[in-house]
Amino acid sequence: MESKSQSLVRPRAAYIHIPFCRRRCFYCDFPISVIGERAYGDSAPAICEYVAALLTEIDSTPNLGLPLNTIFFGGGTPSLLSPGQVAQILTQLAQKIGIDPNPEISLEVDPGTFTKSQIQGYQDCGVTRLSLGVQAFQDHLLQACGRFHRVKDIGQAVATIQEIGFENWSLDLISGLPGQSIEDWNDSLTSAIQLNPTHISAYDLVLEPTTVFGKKFHPGQTPLPDDDTTAEMYLLADQVLTSAGYDHYEISNYARPGFRCQHNQVYWRNESYYGFGLGATSYVEHRRLSRPKTRATYYQWLTGLPGHLTAIEPTSQFDRWLETLMLGLRLQDGVNLIELEKEFPQAWVKKLINLTETEPKLKIKTNKIHLTVPDGFLFSNQVLGQIWEIFDESEM
Ligand code: SF4
Repeated sequence: MESKSQSLVRPRAAYIHIPFCRRRCFYCDFPISVIGERAYGDSAPAICEYVAALLTEIDSTPNLGLPLNTIFFGGGTPSLLSPGQVAQILTQLAQKIGIDPNPEISLEVDPGTFTKSQIQGYQDCGVTRLSLGVQAFQDHLLQACGRFHRVKDIGQAVATIQEIGFENWSLDLISGLPGQSIEDWNDSLTSAIQLNPTHISAYDLVLEPTTVFGKKFHPGQTPLPDDDTTAEMYLLADQVLTSAGYDHYEISNYARPGFRCQHNQVYWRNESYYGFGLGATSYVEHRRLSRPKTRATYYQWLTGLPGHLTAIEPTSQFDRWLETLMLGLRLQDGVNLIELEKEFPQAWVKKLINLTETEPKLKIKTNKIHLTVPDGFLFSNQVLGQIWEIFDESEM
C-alpha cells in the first residue's frame, strides 16, 4: 500500500468530464453543451467525437505507476453515454493506467435520461456507484430551476436503480432555491430518506453571475430565501439526516456508515488525481492543470499533449498549505496534524493550533484539527477567513 505522501503526488483517482446535457439548468455554469431532447450515446455524432477525444487524451497521459482505485464520471449528464461508451473509456483507463480489482466507479445520472437496460449495462461494465441529480421533490421548484425532469421521474429512476441492484447510490438536493420554503426543504429531505439512498449531497444554491439565476436574482432577496432561512435549512438538513442515520461527514455530504464517497475524499484531502475531458482539472505531482472549457478549444489543446503536462509549475508550498486547510476542514474528520508536520514547517502548524484557543468552532481531537458540526460547518467561511488572516503570505 502506498504511503500518504505518495498519494499526495501520484494519483489513484480519475475524473472524467462528460459535457452534454438535455438543456441547461438556470443555476448551472458548468462547461457543458446543450444537446437536445433526443441525442444519446452512439447515435449522437457529437458524443462519439468527444469519446474518441477522451480516449486520445487518456492514451497520451503518462502512467505514474499506481492503478486507479476511484473513477468518477461527472458532468454534464454522463447518462447520455451508452454503456458501450463507458466501457470503452474504462478499458482505455485499465490498459493505460490500470484499475484496482475493487475500485469505486461512480457515474452521475439524471432522472428521465436512462432506461433499465442502460443501468444494467453500466453495472455490467464495472460502474459500482450512481449519483442521481434529484435537486427537489416539488414540480414547481424543478420547473423554476429549468430542470429536465419532474417528480414522477424520480420514483421511476430510483425503482430502476434498485431493481438492477445498485446498493451504493447517492441523491443530490439543493437548498436556497427561488420560492423554496422551509416546508418544501423539509419535504425534500424526508422524501429523500424514504428512498433510502446510501449517500445524500445537500448543496446550498450558489448564484453564478453568468447563469439565468445570477442575472435575475440577488443573494438574500425575494424570491430567494434570506440568509437566516438558508442557515435554518442547513441546520435542518443536519438534524433530519443525522437523525435518520446519515453521518454528516463533509460540509454538504451525508453517508450511511461505509458509504462515504471515496473519490470526492481524494479532493478534500488534497491528494492527487487525473482529470480527463474539457473543463476537467488534474492534480499530479503538485501540478494543477485545467483544461479548456469548450469542445473546439479542448480538441485544439489535445493536439499539444503531453507537452502541456510538463510545462506547468508545481504549486508552491504555501499555496498547498492553504489548499490543504481549505479542503480538509470541509471534512468532519478534519486535517491530521502529524501529516501536516511532515509536509509543512512546524511554525505554521503551531500557529494553526494556537487559533483553537480563540476560535471555539475549531477543535483538536486525536491529532486532527476540525470544524465543529454543524455550527463550524455552517460558519466555515468565517473560520477560514481567520486562517487566511493569520497566514498572510507577506508575513510568512
Ligand atoms: S443537468 Fe447538471 S450539468 Fe447539466 S445543466 Fe443541469 S445542473 Fe448543469
